Amino acid sequence: MNKNISTFIGCESDFEDASIVVYGAPFDGTTSFRPGTRFAPSIMRLESYGLETYSPYLDIDLEDYKVFDGGDLELPFGNTERALEAIESFATEIVSAGKKPLMIGGEHLVTLSNFKAVHKEYPEVQVIHFDAHADLREDYMGERLSHATVMRRIWDIVGDDRIYQFGIRSFEKSESDFSKIHTTTEKFTCETASAVAEKLKGKPVYVTIDLDVLDPSIFPGTGTIEPGGVTFKELLAAVHNFKILNIVGADVVELSPHNDASGLSTAVACKVLRELLLTILA
Ligand code: MN
Ligand code: MN
Repeated sequence: MNKNISTFIGCESDFEDASIVVYGAPFDGTTSFRPGTRFAPSIMRLESYGLETYSPYLDIDLEDYKVFDGGDLELPFGNTERALEAIESFATEIVSAGKKPLMIGGEHLVTLSNFKAVHKEYPEVQVIHFDAHADLREDYMGERLSHATVMRRIWDIVGDDRIYQFGIRSFEKSESDFSKIHTTTEKFTCETASAVAEKLKGKPVYVTIDLDVLDPSIFPGTGTIEPGGVTFKELLAAVHNFKILNIVGADVVELSPHNDASGLSTAVACKVLRELLLTILA
């Protein structure tokens, strides 16, 4: 008999053999509207068994690769900085072992920690960001560490011309002004993804997918709903462009399962994660 343990589908390697480590960062401490993203990683593991391991888009199968599921971190409640430190130290262990961390959030702020671990190893890393929101605020209600400031904190680290944003349709005016100078931001759509992929060829790349980039008709289960999003097919097609890139770390964030009465959003999140995994492995 084997232990009663469930992984994301197809992620059954042990740590030593794996090239990618999937793990959950169940933190939603700065969520400003509807909380609950902390439940996403465990529910996605369960629901992932509704998927196949084979991708008909990429014609490859997760079963043919080595991916380790490191489970969910136990994070302190009510202390954002300590939670972020715990995530960064776990991700650093993965990167130091020569593996790629693929984190399941959690709210978008957790990206900062997974990214920092990757950046220590790859200081020249470029950032690809899918989201409805620019997340470029300097602070949100006085807090510098927030889901609404995460890309600004990453910009603090990488500086100009290193962040490529797709699908953005919600900004403060000041964020929009900032993006015109400091980031490459495609509003509303992801049509430039293939051109960006060509441009970033040969460089290490980090990919962060805030699932609210999707239209709420296909992805209602999230904390901050923003109508007018991209379709599922548009998002997948954009992500598949990046199979030519050296993706050294990634994340999928902002599924809030208790705002997902039908289970649709969780199924969408699982399929996005499978396709992102296979895009990195392809
Ligand atoms: Mn976001
Ligand atoms: Mn968002």
